[in-house]
Amino acid sequence: MRLSVGSRTLRAMSDVAAPGAPAAADPATGADPAGPDPSASADTIAVTGALSPSRAGDFMTCPLLYRFRVIDQLPEPPSPAAARGTLVHAVLERLFDEPAARRTVPAARTLLEPEWQRLLSEEPELSQMFGSGAEQDEWFAEAYAMLDRYFVLEDPRRLEPACRELYVETVLDSGLLLRGYIDRLDIAPNGDVRVVDYKTGTAPRAEFEARALFQMKFYALVLWRRDGQVPRLLQLMYLGNGEILRYAPDESDLRATQRKTEAIWRAIERARSMRDWRPRPSRICDWCAHKALCPAFGGTPPPLPTEGGPSSSRTAAGDAESAARAEPLPEIPSPRSFAVDI
Ligand code: SF4
Repeated sequence: MRLSVGSRTLRAMSDVAAPGAPAAADPATGADPAGPDPSASADTIAVTGALSPSRAGDFMTCPLLYRFRVIDQLPEPPSPAAARGTLVHAVLERLFDEPAARRTVPAARTLLEPEWQRLLSEEPELSQMFGSGAEQDEWFAEAYAMLDRYFVLEDPRRLEPACRELYVETVLDSGLLLRGYIDRLDIAPNGDVRVVDYKTGTAPRAEFEARALFQMKFYALVLWRRDGQVPRLLQLMYLGNGEILRYAPDESDLRATQRKTEAIWRAIERARSMRDWRPRPSRICDWCAHKALCPAFGGTPPPLPTEGGPSSSRTAAGDAESAARAEPLPEIPSPRSFAVDI
């Protein structure tokens, strides 16, 4: 198992000492060392836009992809890799419904088939994903292998998560609503918080770790603003190859994440007002459901929605409010939305 860490020394959650020392002021910003005021959030600030880590990631990956998903709201066919991710997440969430002693490999494997049937009842088109029975068998075999790898990474009999599939949100002073789902939140006896996310892909190479951690820092920022406490540890568990990426954030990390998130939102608003959503080809294009519409591959995007559509507003505030509406709310009850881990 590779254990990849940021710049700080990490210890197991059970070994983490209770934070006691007062936080130092951020020398870059001079910001209040006490951190954000959790009470000065959603109830007191007018929301002008909304962003989740996945949509921020879409825009960073390719502005045109963001447009197709958020502005045009084009449907995407289910992909086997994304559906398997949804299935494995569902099994790991359900696993913690079992009494601790029963959270075993056989128990997890037993959950796979009923969870698959539940997903099929919600999304019958998933049954059309496979070209052959052999392809389907291989798909299930890899789902079982991911569950087996999970147990190599940690022992769920020794864990009692505080929350699973936790919806979190906060409103920045700018009016931007940050929101998302956290796979699992662990809280140690001393109050330290660990944010856990399962990935069914493989761990990124070292040069791409910062990108992978952006999502986790985004969640940490939301929790910090919501609760006034910086999570002690961010943990990405890659079930595709059995590796863990861990990072211990501090307040300066989270302030930098806030600045980055607001910069992404400003870029989105600029693209919206200019009606300029450029393609940014990369290896992700091989998995893009909208490649046939992409000018980078000879396609033609549909006309942008106009009157009454998500991008019809003409004022900046209107644009932002439209964007808040345009970011599909189905993301909330169905947090994965069959999005591929990238
Ligand atoms: S094919 Fe590539 S460049 Fe085109 S929209 Fe999709 S991700 Fe962007």
